[in-house]
Amino acid sequence: MSVGRPLPGDVVEDAIDQPFWDACNDGVLLVYRCNICATSYWPAGSCTAHGMRDIEWVPAAGTGHLHTWTVVHQKYSKSFTDKPTVVAVVKLDEGPMLHTNLIDAEGTNLRVGMPVEVVFETIDEGAVLPVFRPLL
Ligand SMILES: [Zn+2]
Repeated sequence: MSVGRPLPGDVVEDAIDQPFWDACNDGVLLVYRCNICATSYWPAGSCTAHGMRDIEWVPAAGTGHLHTWTVVHQKYSKSFTDKPTVVAVVKLDEGPMLHTNLIDAEGTNLRVGMPVEVVFETIDEGAVLPVFRPLL
């Protein structure tokens, strides 16, 4: 059954990011890491520190801190629930920032720097998204 909202791969076929989505299906969060300077980032096609393309996908710890967020009350599609959606930017412990959703945050006093952890939300068959929840 379709959820009625774009799924990974719906917008543009992207073979480069396919390992990331495959890993999400296995409950693993990946980031790119430079094999020369060990800088981690997501997403990028080359090292952001010096432009080299000697990079590979590696598992991330799945933890980080809340960098910023907004609470969306408008229901833009039938596929969204009636609950407000927390759209967030998480700074992963490895360094990259990831646009995501924050879940299980109702009643939580959100604050910049709040520790968070990844959880994997299945939104459709074969479509698993990394979202985050506060680490209490
Ligand atoms: Zn590098």
